[in-house]
Amino acid sequence: MTIYTEEWIKKEYTCSSCSWSGTGSDSARGLLYRGKFVELTCPTCSASLDVLILPAEKGCAHSLEGLSEEQLKAKAEAAEQERQYRDKCLSSADQLPILADGEITLSWDMEEDQTLIRNGETVIWSEPAVYEGFDRFEQIALLLKEKYGTRLKDLAPTDRSKLFLYGDYEPSLAFIIKVRKELFGVDAES
Ligand SMILES: [Zn+2]
Repeated sequence: MTIYTEEWIKKEYTCSSCSWSGTGSDSARGLLYRGKFVELTCPTCSASLDVLILPAEKGCAHSLEGLSEEQLKAKAEAAEQERQYRDKCLSSADQLPILADGEITLSWDMEEDQTLIRNGETVIWSEPAVYEGFDRFEQIALLLKEKYGTRLKDLAPTDRSKLFLYGDYEPSLAFIIKVRKELFGVDAES
């Protein structure tokens, strides 16, 4: 995954399915997804190369002009729901517990509407689950890595969490595999 900046255009890619290599600007673009992600694909064989995360929308204040009272109310309610959701989300490594010395292998689990981060049977973090929340997976994985450093060996999704985590978006599987490879050096099959 690559955060969207001008840099992705120059980034070098090599396709793992065929011999193509080139820069981001030579790659093919897949569909825009949820207005937040764009998949880059190989121009020769269409294999997935990367997922670009687009920057959050800026300048919301301007877009309020010309909205009816009802639309403004709906927008305020959505913002309030978003704020309540954010309050429940992990935002700092300091919120995570200290774990005893030694290697740590965590799992990404789901129960009812909650995502649970488990160390063995112990839940060390929980927050509202997001459908197709693979970007959230990466954000949490980065905070876990910040807290536990090289002691952390994996964040592995449990089978029952996968349906919700991957959803109907096919590249999300490759995205999670890539995050685990980049952060923990894990070669996961799924
Ligand atoms: Zn290819």
